Amino acid sequence: MHAEVIAIGDELVTGQRLDTNSRWLSAELAVLGIPVTFHTTAADTLEAGVEAFRVATGRADIVLATGGLGPTADDLTRDVLAALAGTPLEESAEAMAAIEARFQTRKMPCPASNRRQALFPRGSTAIPNPDGTAPGIDLVISDGGRTSRIFALPGVPAEMRPMWAASVSPAILDMMPDVATIQQRRIKCFGAGESAIEEMLPDLVQRGRDPLVGITAHEATITLRIAARGRDKAECAAKIAATEAVIRDCLGTLVFGVGDEELEDAALAAVAEVGGNLATAEVGTAGELATLTAAASARRLADRRAAAFAGAGVLPAAATDDAATLAADARLRFGAACGLAVGGLHDGVEGRPAVTIALASPAGVETVEHVLGGGPALARRRAAKAALDLVRLRVGRAGEVAR
Ligand code: AMP
Ligand code: MG
Repeated sequence: MHAEVIAIGDELVTGQRLDTNSRWLSAELAVLGIPVTFHTTAADTLEAGVEAFRVATGRADIVLATGGLGPTADDLTRDVLAALAGTPLEESAEAMAAIEARFQTRKMPCPASNRRQALFPRGSTAIPNPDGTAPGIDLVISDGGRTSRIFALPGVPAEMRPMWAASVSPAILDMMPDVATIQQRRIKCFGAGESAIEEMLPDLVQRGRDPLVGITAHEATITLRIAARGRDKAECAAKIAATEAVIRDCLGTLVFGVGDEELEDAALAAVAEVGGNLATAEVGTAGELATLTAAASARRLADRRAAAFAGAGVLPAAATDDAATLAADARLRFGAACGLAVGGLHDGVEGRPAVTIALASPAGVETVEHVLGGGPALARRRAAKAALDLVRLRVGRAGEVAR
């Protein structure tokens, strides 16, 4: 079973807006284990739309489309689908009632143009839209023994995404025999590049594997997404646990967390384990370290289950740019368990710009050289993360294991 994605809109083909829907839907389809073979972008004309759907339904089992379902005259997807299927548009009493109710709750008269959104090609089904007036269209096209199922959704991402989750993804799961549920888990890593990590997991990141393991990188943090298919949650959980064990075995301390956990959360958790606060001071990272740490600190405070609290202090107007001095000063001045500092910019190996990272703890002061990479903003973010990574690796339980 494979899918294609069609994005419809003049704003897309004229380059005024980037088609993010196709990207998002394709990533969701990948989680379901369904390969996407083509993306097509079509203008808001009947001819372009019919041609795009004709070609896609001739090739793919599932066609996901977004856009062109609005109330205005340039929104032609419903007409396109009726022309493609060779059937008339018919008003759905149920959809009409839902649209009228939406306007009634806002105490506004329902414009005639919105009535168009209750029209559906004969034989199709409406896909409920809880966040807007335009329902989606679910239509099966059969041609010479070949069938293809179209799911047409509105273009507005905030409406499209919940409709995918509530209606389309379950409908696609129903089309797959032996698969009743799909569960996923994200494993977060730091300290090696995407391709290096992929090489350390030789048999895992492969297409068609179950569970499927996908790898993505964002600001030097690598996310491994495990997606397992099974008859129930327990079967999926067992498959995920086995794959996670292999990943942790291969990657060791490169793994710092799961799900939404960020490196700064792992660093503060490590400091909380030794029962104290983390104080930060920085020169070369222009506040990036404090920003990340403060956000993680706020998340810990919001989480009432967190037994210990790790706070961040920022050393103002530093008189030195020496990382080791800054880290030791910050630790003393804030009475913190650990002081973490990023020193000033200097020439590192081969004259490349570098900063020194220093961690002051009861064990003493440790420094690490960090060569900057990427544009200025990204370089600062990466350096701050490298500093937090040092805390995660040296302090708390993980630190004891590492020593
Ligand atoms: P429509 O359903 O065609 O009326 O689209 C409504 C709005 O959704 C458009 O004006 C765009 O701002 C946005 N939109 C439509 N298609 C896409 C797409 N493929 N990616 C991102 N945004 C889109
Ligand atoms: Mg449009």
